[in-house]
Amino acid sequence: LLQVTDLQKSFGTTRVLSSIDLHIDSGQVVALVGPSGSGKTTVLRCLNGLETPDAGTVAFRGGPSVDFAAKVPKKDALALRDRSAMVFQTYNLFPHRTVLENIIEGPVQVQKRPRKEAVADAERLLARVGLAEKRDAYPFNLSGGQQQRVGIVRALALQPDLLLFDEPTSALDPELVGEVLTVIKELAEEKWTMVIVTHELAFAREVADEVVFMDGGVVVEHGHPDQVLRHPREERTRRFVQRLL
Ligand code: ATP
Repeated sequence: LLQVTDLQKSFGTTRVLSSIDLHIDSGQVVALVGPSGSGKTTVLRCLNGLETPDAGTVAFRGGPSVDFAAKVPKKDALALRDRSAMVFQTYNLFPHRTVLENIIEGPVQVQKRPRKEAVADAERLLARVGLAEKRDAYPFNLSGGQQQRVGIVRALALQPDLLLFDEPTSALDPELVGEVLTVIKELAEEKWTMVIVTHELAFAREVADEVVFMDGGVVVEHGHPDQVLRHPREERTRRFVQRLL
């Protein structure tokens, strides 16, 4: 589905991504793990168009294929953004809008889909995550776990090919983590293609088809979850998993 080649990004003089290669098949779940500051979030933001890489190619099957070393036409940048949707660590819901309004904003305003259709979709998706009755509630009246489930529904409502999760449970109280992980597991069973940045290595092992370990802006190793997390080849990976598992 997606091929990322030699992705590079600096902020000022700080090199955050040195040369990232990623290959993601349709229906595959990739867990992106690594120490704080290793560049995981930046990878997701580059895929979703929230950051512009300095160089590298991001190519989706069926297009677009964007080479960031060249000047990227606006329509290609927009087409790239359209293929994925992001679930944020701190939900990023609009506080002054209801749950429903939060969910239909993208489909109606950005994708220009008929409002009626967007509302019907939103209601169906809310019911799926057990939040049908929260349609007209405001985010501040929801628990963190409920807000994050709305965040997931908002991403699904965009009908993306690729779902990007940026530490989706790390802002939650421990007792609320499970309900969000359950939804993500269900999406994996339905064969959504997902990249999940997570510190929950046990969850990564359970849900991911592939684990990518990053450190210092490079992919140190990647492979089957059991291989990377239980029998790492690289010393850096070993040190990381020993600390967390
Ligand atoms: P964490 O697990 O803590 O979220 P991460 O692996 O996701 O870390 P990133 O958030 O991608 O790491 O950040 C990588 C590095 O880039 C960090 O050193 C961070 O300070 C820096 N960085 C990220 N965004 C910016 C920015 N907009 N401006 C300057 N530096 C940034």
